[in-house]
Amino acid sequence: MLDLIVQGGPIHGHPGADAVGVRCGRIVVVGRAPELGNLRGPKTQVFRLEGRPLLPGFFDAHVHFLKVGLDRTFFVDLSQARTLSEALELLRARAQERPGEWVVGRGWDESRWPEKRYLERADLDRAVPRQPCCAVRVDGHMMVANTLALARCVRPEGELVDRARGHLFEDAVFEVLSLVRPSQEALVEAVAAASRYAASLGVTAVADMDTEALAFRAYATAERRGLLRTRIFAYGKADLLPQLVGLGLRRGFGSPFLRICGVKAFVDGSIGAKTAALFEPYQGEMGKGRVLLGRGELARLWRKVMEAELQLAVHAIGDRAIEEVLAAARLAGVGALDRHRVEHLELPTPHQLDRVKELGLVASMQPNFLQWSGPGRMYEDRLGPTRDARIDPHRWVLERGIPLAFGSDGMPLGPLYGIGLALDPPYYPQRVTWEEALQAYTQGAAFAAFAEDELGTIAPGKWADFVVLSGDPGRVPPKDLQVDATFVAGELVFSR
Ligand SMILES: [Zn+2]
Repeated sequence: MLDLIVQGGPIHGHPGADAVGVRCGRIVVVGRAPELGNLRGPKTQVFRLEGRPLLPGFFDAHVHFLKVGLDRTFFVDLSQARTLSEALELLRARAQERPGEWVVGRGWDESRWPEKRYLERADLDRAVPRQPCCAVRVDGHMMVANTLALARCVRPEGELVDRARGHLFEDAVFEVLSLVRPSQEALVEAVAAASRYAASLGVTAVADMDTEALAFRAYATAERRGLLRTRIFAYGKADLLPQLVGLGLRRGFGSPFLRICGVKAFVDGSIGAKTAALFEPYQGEMGKGRVLLGRGELARLWRKVMEAELQLAVHAIGDRAIEEVLAAARLAGVGALDRHRVEHLELPTPHQLDRVKELGLVASMQPNFLQWSGPGRMYEDRLGPTRDARIDPHRWVLERGIPLAFGSDGMPLGPLYGIGLALDPPYYPQRVTWEEALQAYTQGAAFAAFAEDELGTIAPGKWADFVVLSGDPGRVPPKDLQVDATFVAGELVFSR
């Protein structure tokens, strides 16, 4: 007998079918509702689509899952504060809720406040006197800290540190943020929140990038308590490699909800911060960004990763960074069937893409980033219009048969937003179809994580991870679609 029948609407990938049968979390049968009737027992649940389409659950190929949760539970969002005093009130309220813990605000913007001045140390000391508190300005390059938080900053007074006002800048901001350690309970709570939020967006699986040890622990605890309803495919921070090797954990180790894939390395930074490595300088400047990990070092890391039977995900955005990745792959002896991945791959040349194909690398791209492309937008400002026009060249990737995986990088989480941009990009020749975009956000992402046998399509034997959309994605633009329901392993984890 079936545990669940989902029926009464088109089933993606199965023309003519209108029902799916599920047992023990997996898809057993796809067909017509009357045919499934004799597999229906007294305990079989029935979910009615009422004409709405059933799709495979979305698989976000690049997120920082714990951060998604922390943004919702741990950090205090100051972006909506209408006045300086309101911002302080929000921090004070959080401090009272969680005595003893760090209070970290984000997104304040004095230009929107009637007071028209920065937050200062004295303000924070009044609002949060007994626990460390800091708040990052909306641009991310400046922070205000109270006395207790400032005491943790070891940098001397100077360009980046103004102790009297409690202001920190640039690296000093990151140093203090790196000291902020939410309790393990707060981390587990954040994972649960991230999982609920992902479900509301139709995301049933993610590739988690730069996973730290404390995140692994939080995911594992959340899973044990039944709070993790999103499948996590983890790519640990590169410095976790010795531990993975030491424990002999190969790719695929884990459970249906938490699995190790490999590690992630960074070859460059970002275009926004002008740290992505380019062949030609940023527009109107001399700088070409910086290669953080050259081909020799990267090749050595790659070999170690392969010896450990793990997968490598390499962050490379600029054309010069991509060149280092391709050269390193050759040096390391990466084979066409090895299936390692390049994260972002934002500015490849057509010739580089030919080599990406030859090396069997997966293109893990984030169509969300197109929000910064086009006339007058950030990428055009940094790169000029010619290079901006070849940002995120999804069409070139598909034309070459390069496996394409879509993700959001959490900017913001939610596949429909990125798919909308991929369907209607600022530079039309790179546009993709709905089917291509959906494929990249389901099967493509599953392939990138070696999970294509279990996830990514609606097919017997695969996990019953589904999304019910509010309308026909072939006709309704993504921005007008909603996720009405989400199933993971045959269980309804979200319903609007
Ligand atoms: Zn990322």
